[in-house]
Amino acid sequence: MSTLFPETLIFECETGNYHTFCPISCVAWLYQKVEDSFFLVIGTKTCGYFLQNALGVMIFAEPRYAMAELEEVDVAAKLESYDELKRLCFQIKQDRNPTVIVWIGTCTTEVIQTDLEGIAPTLESEIGIPIVVARANGLDYAFTQGEDTVLAAIAHRYQPSYSQKLNKIETSSAFLNSDDSLLKLNYIRQKTLAKNTIGESQPGTFKFLTKLKQLSQTLFLKITSSFSEQDRLPQKQKEKQKDHQLVLFGSVPNTVSTQLTMELQKQGINVTGWLPSPRYADLPFLGKEVHVCAINPFLSRTATTLLRRQKCSLITAPFPIGPDGTRGWIEKICSVLNLLPHGLEKREADIWKSLEDYLQLVRGKSVFFMGDNLLEICLARFLIRCGMIVYEIGIPYIDKKFQAPELALLEKACQQMNVLFPRLVERPDNYYQVQRIRELQPDLAITGMAHANPLEARGVSTKWSVEFTFAQIHGFTNARDILELVTRPLRRNKALDRLGWTQLVKTNGDI
Ligand code: SF4
Repeated sequence: MSTLFPETLIFECETGNYHTFCPISCVAWLYQKVEDSFFLVIGTKTCGYFLQNALGVMIFAEPRYAMAELEEVDVAAKLESYDELKRLCFQIKQDRNPTVIVWIGTCTTEVIQTDLEGIAPTLESEIGIPIVVARANGLDYAFTQGEDTVLAAIAHRYQPSYSQKLNKIETSSAFLNSDDSLLKLNYIRQKTLAKNTIGESQPGTFKFLTKLKQLSQTLFLKITSSFSEQDRLPQKQKEKQKDHQLVLFGSVPNTVSTQLTMELQKQGINVTGWLPSPRYADLPFLGKEVHVCAINPFLSRTATTLLRRQKCSLITAPFPIGPDGTRGWIEKICSVLNLLPHGLEKREADIWKSLEDYLQLVRGKSVFFMGDNLLEICLARFLIRCGMIVYEIGIPYIDKKFQAPELALLEKACQQMNVLFPRLVERPDNYYQVQRIRELQPDLAITGMAHANPLEARGVSTKWSVEFTFAQIHGFTNARDILELVTRPLRRNKALDRLGWTQLVKTNGDI
């Protein structure tokens, strides 16, 4: 097996025989992020066991997710799935009263072809709560792609609420500056009518939407025509540039979303919303005048849905991981919004300076990514800029178009640091990877738990890759946290070196 290093980026594809988490694990962080949601995983005991084990102590904290466990009768289609799901959803409504229920389809619903998308609309009108269907099954996706399927499903069914449309008309400077008094008069009449008809209903709720449907067709037509009226105004373009709308998508803890929002604010960019928002009822306005930008590399389906279905303008940029990525991300957003970035060079230099104590530990060290969470390219690019040598980047899936700016930044990092390009192995084979690790003897292997302890026992330092998914790694300030994670096994093994226990397996030096 050749382990020669390429001089350009080379993409390889192996058998896909690798360890990763099932994508249904995304409920663990999404139910915490969207506070008024409830996740119902429709699967078998296998899925239940996985969730129970992977999510650890979380299951004791009355989480807002549950399993709808399929029995043999369901699989044999002897029982009507509709009635069973209806019973469960009514129970969820009664016990937790969520604003949205997310059904997570699994391998079993996929194999027996349960028509979840077909059942959902009827059931949601019966229970009065929106139901989003996401097929986050282990047959098609890996780990973090679960979040992608959920966000894509939300983006797919999203319709701006009436109040959002009214706000949009109200806040549009083009509308307010319009000389068309008839248009203004029409708007006031429509708003009064809407208020009277809708009464005290909460915007964004299902009840609100149902009542909204009862409004006359003409009301909507008039509103739609008032949008297109604005679009025809000659000064519209100019206004758009000033009043840009930017929605960021990707689920991160609230502290991180605040940090990223503030970084953009420093450049004069106002983030108008996040997908997902902390409450489902507060989803941001989406539409053709809205720019959207991802913060994670595994969100390519969501990006496509926002682009094609909601007609948003997609900004493809490097991802805000590491100071170099964060700077590239902000610069790209600025360039699309016709703004000149300022102070970023100094900001990045200051962060690199503050990382010096960690950089001394990692410079010249080699790292091997076995690949399981799709964050690998960004992390590898950052580690190369830190002075490390990356032998291989294993990754479950690469959307080359979506990741193009990130791949370009990876190439730039290799050239800047004068190191050879790593191999990019899509759908890796863990067996072959272990052989390559034996050959290359990297200083650090970033891998899943299945291989971590066996490799440690054979003298290879490892870092558990899942930690990067749950740690706060985005933005300038969190670059230190990434290095804290990367250097921990190196520091620990250095401290234990004198004990002489580096090899714990008798294999004549072989792995
Ligand atoms: S969805 Fe499929 S891969 Fe995931 S736990 Fe269930 S059976 Fe396993």
